[in-house]
Amino acid sequence: MSVRRMAVLALLLAGAGLIGALQWRQARTEVTPRPLLYLVADTERELERIPLKLTEVSVEEENQIGAEMARSYGLVPERHENPQEAKIAAYVAEVGEKLAAHAGRKGISYRFFYNPDRGFVNAGALPGGQIVFGRGLLELLETEDELAAILGHEIAHVDKKHCIERLQYELKSRKLGLRGIYALGRPAVFIFQQGYSKEKELEADVAGLGMAIVAGYSAAGAVEVERRFERLRPAAYGGAASPVTEILGIPLASLREYFRSHPPPAERIDALEKEIRARGWDAGRAQRPLAVREFFLAEAAARKARALWSAGNTRGAALAAREAVDRNPQDADLWKLLAQALARDNLATASADFRSVVTAAHPSTAATTQAWNVLTRELWRSGDAAETLNFATAGLERTQGEAELWNHVAVSLAATDPRGAAGKFGPLMRKWPPTGEADFLVAVDRQGLEVLAGRAMATLNYREVMRGEYTATREAELRARMAWWMYRAGKLREAEAEADAAPAGVNDIAAARRILALARTDLGQHRFALETLWRSGSLEGPDAERAIAALIQWRLGQRKEAAVAFQSAAGADNAWMNLRWIRNNYSASAAADFAKMIEGELTRREKEKRERERAEALRRSSRR
Ligand SMILES: [Zn+2]
Repeated sequence: MSVRRMAVLALLLAGAGLIGALQWRQARTEVTPRPLLYLVADTERELERIPLKLTEVSVEEENQIGAEMARSYGLVPERHENPQEAKIAAYVAEVGEKLAAHAGRKGISYRFFYNPDRGFVNAGALPGGQIVFGRGLLELLETEDELAAILGHEIAHVDKKHCIERLQYELKSRKLGLRGIYALGRPAVFIFQQGYSKEKELEADVAGLGMAIVAGYSAAGAVEVERRFERLRPAAYGGAASPVTEILGIPLASLREYFRSHPPPAERIDALEKEIRARGWDAGRAQRPLAVREFFLAEAAARKARALWSAGNTRGAALAAREAVDRNPQDADLWKLLAQALARDNLATASADFRSVVTAAHPSTAATTQAWNVLTRELWRSGDAAETLNFATAGLERTQGEAELWNHVAVSLAATDPRGAAGKFGPLMRKWPPTGEADFLVAVDRQGLEVLAGRAMATLNYREVMRGEYTATREAELRARMAWWMYRAGKLREAEAEADAAPAGVNDIAAARRILALARTDLGQHRFALETLWRSGSLEGPDAERAIAALIQWRLGQRKEAAVAFQSAAGADNAWMNLRWIRNNYSASAAADFAKMIEGELTRREKEKRERERAEALRRSSRR
């Protein structure tokens, strides 16, 4: 075997060994190209100055080494499951290929990889033209010309043989054989962190910009991106956050890697400007926008909205969510977040604000459905039936008429106009015919409104109503819903019968059990009602169960137990302190008793507050 062949083999094996060692090191963690890129990320070292005679490696051999390294590290073939990421990857590759066409060395098979890790704020090149670009770095760019300058820099490291020689130097200077690379304690990372000399970095800057210019880009891109890095530098080292990164939320500490591996931006700018002047390149030429920037801005807006929401800043979250849905009108979760934030920030203006955003954004109906539901629910919980009706009706017009929205239209109609509600509901159904599941749920509400108007009493044939979608569980749910309407109409015996008629085995569902208990306690059968409510044997139920238990205990004269149960329910859901909401959901006699418990709970809270203040005052005075 010739010396040259041996050298190449050693290189190949070393490359594989290095990668193997890396993968071993991060065994069972996600395999990403990141650690490898730390290796090739350039740092300012003078290692190349050690005089070593290097064996010439042919283009074919270099391609082979690069491809092997990339393959071993899972860089080929490139697949991005997320269609947005695939688009970004294709864009980076497209710009890269435009530049690579102007590289000096022919025959290198350039390949461009996109690493969607936001924490990877860097780019790197492997021998043979394997170039990786990290999302964290891409997010900091504003123009395609800036991207071209950085890609050109990486291509230049390959084109000027910096990469392949780096590998050769490393192996030779350490007299590394096949065994040697394994013998190193902290193998690959340590070796490759040494990177390129400042001269080579600046050479890559200038050569890269040259390629970008020939490919039609503005010379301003290279300079401006360095200026931005210079501005970001203090933030990366723990200083004040810059507006750019504050908006984008880039993990700033990751930027340090970039700064460690490159000469200071000021020096790079100097060298670039000198070259631009010497060559007479046009730095005044207009730059092209970065085609994928909108995607990053959209994601940044969504991230910001979620972060503010989690931090409890409802006003900020509402504003950010508004921007986020403008940029991502198809994202149902963002619409939902917008509705939540608006409701929490100021419910009085929330419905008008939400409607104006929907109108302005012209989103698909499907994306906003859950948001309409969320806000409708909040309005209903506030006890404002008229506003609930307005908003839910607007939602019917804008969406496919989801079942929950229909239900809120029905109950808010019932609360605002019990007698006339049925007459108003029918025309709405004709205007926006309910489909799917809404179809049979709406049929129950329509019948319920008839009951409330005192016109109908015959119960529905649920098999017929549900047709092909019939299940016993659904029948139980629909009967509970129907029973609620009867209870609201004061038809307590009928409500009891309806709730009790749920198919055997599923008649224990919570909603039916609650209506049974409510009907029975209104009929004066308090003990039976309590027994019904706690049929499951548990005293710890959801807040509605605890509140209803409180009501029955109150009526049984167990005032202490009632107060405790009510406190617990109101603590879990503050709607129990809202008499307007209670009146819209429960019978008048139940509401009257709840009113007394609310009063008791308010008194208790007031007393507790005073005691806390007294204790606080005592602590303060004893400290003095
Ligand atoms: Zn470099």
